[in-house]
Amino acid sequence: MEFAWAPEQERYRERVKAALDELLPDDWDEKYVPESYASDLQVAFSREFCAGLAERGLLTPHWPVEYGGNNSADWDHFVLGEEMKGAGEPRGPQYMNVNWIGPTLMRYGTAEQKDQHLKGISSGKVIWCQGFSEPNAGTDLAALKTRAERQGDEYVVNGSKIWTSYARTADWCFLLARTGSGRKDVSIFLVPMDTPGISVTSFPGLIKPGHLNEVFFTDVHVPAANRVGAEGQAWEIVTHALAFERVGVARYHTGLDALDLAVAQLKREGRWDDDPIARSRAGMLVAKFEAARMLTYLVVDQRVKGMPPGTDANLARVVALDAVSDMMNFIAEFVPDCLAGGDVLLDDYYRINVPAGITGGTNEIQLDLVAQREFGLPRG
Ligand SMILES: Cc1cc2nc3c(=O)[nH]c(=O)nc-3n(C[C@H](O)[C@H](O)[C@H](O)COP(=O)(O)OP(=O)(O)OC[C@H]3O[C@@H](n4cnc5c(N)ncnc54)[C@H](O)[C@@H]3O)c2cc1C
Repeated sequence: MEFAWAPEQERYRERVKAALDELLPDDWDEKYVPESYASDLQVAFSREFCAGLAERGLLTPHWPVEYGGNNSADWDHFVLGEEMKGAGEPRGPQYMNVNWIGPTLMRYGTAEQKDQHLKGISSGKVIWCQGFSEPNAGTDLAALKTRAERQGDEYVVNGSKIWTSYARTADWCFLLARTGSGRKDVSIFLVPMDTPGISVTSFPGLIKPGHLNEVFFTDVHVPAANRVGAEGQAWEIVTHALAFERVGVARYHTGLDALDLAVAQLKREGRWDDDPIARSRAGMLVAKFEAARMLTYLVVDQRVKGMPPGTDANLARVVALDAVSDMMNFIAEFVPDCLAGGDVLLDDYYRINVPAGITGGTNEIQLDLVAQREFGLPRG
């Protein structure tokens, strides 16, 4: 595959870089990046930063004009994602809004839901969280137990969610709850996080405090008008939504940045020139990240051409995560003193990526999907 950026994409990238220069504070790398992206500091900053992007037409460029976009090509959105990832993802909690919550509402939301939410998301001032996983329902999401009982014009929700990123500071939850007795009788609700009966408890994790949360729902009343799609349509909607998410993260960008930092450290210690093993492993890492980049571009190209999501998206994710895992091993093996706070950025890279193969669909599941769809093998 030959790949080159068109001149208009190069110009677009320059616009994004200029906006980053203007909007990021001078102490972004030192003060903000080392904080968890769900910390109060970063969440508050994301509202300011995303509003600035929105004013410049750079938050949701690929959205239709009526919802606050510019109707621009999907590649623009992808270039935006690459640059944001390279800068430490200053959109933080809002990447979900832009990547899949907004597009899902465009496709499945009612006119009122679109009116109420899309302009808010494209203004960059609203934070959402994703209430899918439960203690016994992660990969096997259909095992979820949180229940929404219809009572007149409302549903009453009871149950709990776990791992819910940003729940402490989110304004809205994109909630998955059981509405019938069949395994897949599940529906989606848009729930304001300040509704009485919702409580959030944070618990510690490898990523800095505030990121991981449990959300409890006790007799939470949600208007029926807040249900997205028909009762029981959640699987179709979620499958569509996650197809947007899967190739949304430019992991090769942060991976190559981390490699640069590790190599700089080896050079500072005078170990780079004399260590052919470190040099060859670094070379292999560059090749792996570049392979991940090319596979990701292939998938974006398919999407731009209107092709349905296929197994290339699963493979792009597996290849990217494999490279990330090798990068973490490289840090642990060659510059271990950078961990445990030795080098804030490398330590952060390591911690954030420990669960990378779990969040958003595990590697085993990606490979299982490839085996089923490409080779007709039974589900693992
Ligand atoms: C940092 C972080 C942030 C998260 N943020 C959110 C969020 O905001 N909202 C949300 O809803 N969820 C969130 N999650 C949850 C995430 O989606 C789940 O962790 C994920 O779906 C896996 O579920 P689980 O943790 O229950 O693991 P399990 O499903 O128990 O899986 C454990 C292991 O078993 C393997 N496994 C399971 N089933 C199979 C199978 N059939 N075949 C082969 N292997 C299998 C998995 O691949 C995995 O390696 C987050 C998770 C993390 C770690």
